[in-house]
Amino acid sequence: MSAIDETHDRGRASWLESANGHCDFPIQNLPFGIFSGPDGPARPGVAIGDFVLDLSAASREGLLAEFPAGLFSAPTLNGLLAFGERRNLRRRLFTLLSDVGYQPKVEPLLRRINDVALQMPAAIGDYTDFYAGIHHAENVGRLFRPDNPLLPNYKHVPIGYHGRASSVRVSGHAVRRPNGQRKGEGEAPSFGPSTRLDYELELGIWIGAGNELGETIPIAEAPSHIAGFCLLNDWSARDIQAWEYQPLGPFLAKNFATTISPWIVTAEAMAPFRIAQSARPAGDPQPLAYLWDPGDQAAGALAIDFEVSLLTGRMRASHEQAFRLSRSQAHDLYWTPAQLVTHHASNGCNMNPGDLLGTGTISGSQDGQCGSLLEVTQGGRVPVKLPNGETRTFLEDGDEVLFHGRAHADGYASIGFGPCRGVIRPAP
Ligand code: CA
Repeated sequence: MSAIDETHDRGRASWLESANGHCDFPIQNLPFGIFSGPDGPARPGVAIGDFVLDLSAASREGLLAEFPAGLFSAPTLNGLLAFGERRNLRRRLFTLLSDVGYQPKVEPLLRRINDVALQMPAAIGDYTDFYAGIHHAENVGRLFRPDNPLLPNYKHVPIGYHGRASSVRVSGHAVRRPNGQRKGEGEAPSFGPSTRLDYELELGIWIGAGNELGETIPIAEAPSHIAGFCLLNDWSARDIQAWEYQPLGPFLAKNFATTISPWIVTAEAMAPFRIAQSARPAGDPQPLAYLWDPGDQAAGALAIDFEVSLLTGRMRASHEQAFRLSRSQAHDLYWTPAQLVTHHASNGCNMNPGDLLGTGTISGSQDGQCGSLLEVTQGGRVPVKLPNGETRTFLEDGDEVLFHGRAHADGYASIGFGPCRGVIRPAP
């Protein structure tokens, strides 16, 4: 677990005015990303206020001399995710951006975020999606099994499946509505555009140091394998999913697109926002020993608030604000990130730097806390009414889905993830 240090002090400020009080990227955050342009190829940067600090340029200027230069010249962050001295790098960046003595050298290395293109932060070798949002699992299960929403394994084993890494894109990339097999009322399925296209609000977990094939990651060591976090939208075609998912689980209903927020909010930045895992309700089974660690239970969950908003094509054309569909919280996850990582490697499966895990859809137990339209509309039965009179059961072409996430804790500056957004384009 990362300790609290001067980089988390909310009393500290940056010489860069736009960072101070910034809703996502104050100096206490310092998330890493990959950007390109206007004057260079894809390279690492760190977000600060409305700007990105060019780390490759900072390295060339000798400002990061104590760290391996190769970390800052690569077009991906995989090396940086695996780097064991990331906390020292964070402290150095904090000094560069807070000490006015460095302002003359550092300020020329800043680029406006709006002037650069944010790229995939890492080469994702493998992407795995879990199902740790228990209220989502219950809400969805209830649609199909009103008396028995959770299957018997749920509270014993973190449920997951292997997703598709090739179709993960950063925020802003359009999502093309998938074609696929759908089974309506008739005898035979048909092939065509999904009519029940949905989003899923998830937290993404970036793997740092990996494990060798055949080795495991003990639960007490799992936090040291987690490099950071992002927002993740696991776009889902519910009609394709309902027809294809038995007996092997999700396939083409999920693998056409996954959208992530482009900044990796590091585990170090998240140190103040670690909280106790919610107590298991009376009667729930104790997790098996390999998933149980007192330290993880005491501080392995995260205090993050999420919002999901929708902007339809008509709303965009008339310059209306996006409409908030839901709010939910990361502490509603039934398993901690460490438990997901440990479980994933518990059979000797090797994890690698830059692997991406999705937690599963994060919903709360109340109305207004549903992390997917499937839940919001109760399986498509109760349409959402939008302020301009439009209604939605599932997503239509031109609709844009926006996620925001902010970590908060008393006595600390809140930090955010930046937007995770995608607009739906028509099926091919
Ligand atoms: Ca999912």
